Amino acid sequence: MRVRPVNTTARLAFRSFWPLVKGDRRWLALICGCVVIAALAETAAILLFGELTDHALQKGSLDAFWAPAAQWLGVAAFAAVVGYVGNSTAVWVAERFVMRLRARIFAHVQDLPPHFFQRHRQGDLVERLTGDVEAIEQLVVSGVVRTVSALFSTVFFFTAALILRWDLALATFVLAPLFWLAARQFASRIRTAARQERVADGAITSVVEESLGTIVLTQAYNRRRAEEKRLDTEARAWMRASVRGARLSEMYTQLVEVIETVCVLAVIGLGAWEISQDRMTLGQLLAFAAFLGYLYPPIRALGQLGLTVTAATAGAERLLEILAARPAVSDPPVPRPPRQVRGVLDVDHVWFRYPGPDAADTASAAAPYALRDVSFTARPGELILITGPSGAGKSTIARLLPRFYDPAAGHIRLDGTRLDALPLENLREHITLLPQKTLVLHGTIRENIACGRPGATDDEVVRAARDAAAHAFISALPDGYATHIAPGTAQLSGGQLQRIALARAVLRNAPVLVLDEPTAGLDALSARQVIAPLRRLMSGRTTLLITHDLRLAPDADRILVLDHGRLVESGRHEELLGRSGTYARLHGHTARPAAGS
Ligand code: ATP
Repeated sequence: MRVRPVNTTARLAFRSFWPLVKGDRRWLALICGCVVIAALAETAAILLFGELTDHALQKGSLDAFWAPAAQWLGVAAFAAVVGYVGNSTAVWVAERFVMRLRARIFAHVQDLPPHFFQRHRQGDLVERLTGDVEAIEQLVVSGVVRTVSALFSTVFFFTAALILRWDLALATFVLAPLFWLAARQFASRIRTAARQERVADGAITSVVEESLGTIVLTQAYNRRRAEEKRLDTEARAWMRASVRGARLSEMYTQLVEVIETVCVLAVIGLGAWEISQDRMTLGQLLAFAAFLGYLYPPIRALGQLGLTVTAATAGAERLLEILAARPAVSDPPVPRPPRQVRGVLDVDHVWFRYPGPDAADTASAAAPYALRDVSFTARPGELILITGPSGAGKSTIARLLPRFYDPAAGHIRLDGTRLDALPLENLREHITLLPQKTLVLHGTIRENIACGRPGATDDEVVRAARDAAAHAFISALPDGYATHIAPGTAQLSGGQLQRIALARAVLRNAPVLVLDEPTAGLDALSARQVIAPLRRLMSGRTTLLITHDLRLAPDADRILVLDHGRLVESGRHEELLGRSGTYARLHGHTARPAAGS
């Protein structure tokens, strides 16, 4: 990723994320109001402190103590109430901001094309949606509140200092830019360390997540040490970055202490000269030195704020990178919802290539075509079987139909309407995709089936399960339809999960059915159990069956054979076998082991 200067990123991030505060701006104004009042109260306390020193302490008069002391207490109590209201509202607004930001990034991620998820490690995305999102809050909500607080405190305190001793106040402020210079020196190094820490955080989450996902491989192939080493490498990178960040912060804090000492010494030196000239008493000097204790924290906070913002920009860059990834498809500007979809699919001279590795959102010219000039038509009630060697482009067709991507050239039409003219949600309602990998949601079996059609009744769920030959095994489970399942669940076999997915598809009742290797990974018995309900599901619909398994080939109305992205053969099973081309060769390969089994 291109590295931008700190200020540019901070400004860009602020502009991108500030709109999320919309709706809470009056609360933000209230917080800023509280912060300003708190700064004013502290200024009043400083002036009362000056009064106490001048009248009660210097003159040793207890009578002069009570009135300013009572006022000071009153101001402190008022400041405490205002401080409580301001700070607790600030936390509430900050958390709401984090919630909205996370929801916005999450919603954006939902629309991104499949290749985005193949190119970003899942753990890293998780880290961006959690840790990085919270870092941005420091930049926007807390950043604004702290800037207002530090700026107003500095202005008020400086005015108070001028009232107390204008000459000493000016001397103090001449040295104030030293704080700013110190913060500037550290800014870019702190951002680099913060960026490395955020990246390492993401890498650690990724390694843990990937390791847990491949635990069987790790155990079966004795890869435990290799996995531990992988985690160790990332953990060390994280530790280095985090220690470097902490060291830089500590160095900055200590440097600020030294600068403060220089300022106090300058005031004392100037005071000593003033006393020697009889223009000042020791009491006044001590009072002013104590006053510096109030004055420097807001000045220091301004410098510190720069560093916090700097560190937060490291997280902001990572979120901006996600927001920069564009969905591969979008709703048409003037969508044309179809009245009633019959399911006539027309694939018309379609060319397609996947976005290249460097192109986040557009097709790279260097990527080879996965589909080349593919044309065919599928009508309701037809079973079209698509087969071909591995990498021929079969699954790519399945990805174009629900518009995960649009073709580079050519068109696909549903009942004569181009897919990109249909509202996305509407199009996807009419196409049921059963992908190669059985998709399981976190929830009960009932929820897993019912998500095929939101609002489905329990009776409809059971009927769909019966049609998918899943009812018997679901009923035999101790919790039946209320059994909890999750991705990677061990409770059910591959064939059983596949039948749950089929029940979901039955319930969806869409006119177009796209099945991508529905029997892959299943043994002969499980495959047979899936094939019968599959045949029922296909009847009356437009079905595209993508498979290497040619057991269903004799039933197909047409077989399309793809090779290197081209449609090389098309016809019925017997017809293609007679041609002794690619299909006959493929059939020979799949038929042989079946014969032997
Ligand atoms: P298989 O039978 O092994 O599943 P397939 O015929 O379904 O193979 P596709 O998955 O359609 O093949 O892939 C067609 C071509 O597109 C292959 O060369 C593959 O490497 C490439 N491809 C697939 N997915 C992507 C992707 N996300 N990014 C880049 N190239 C891809």
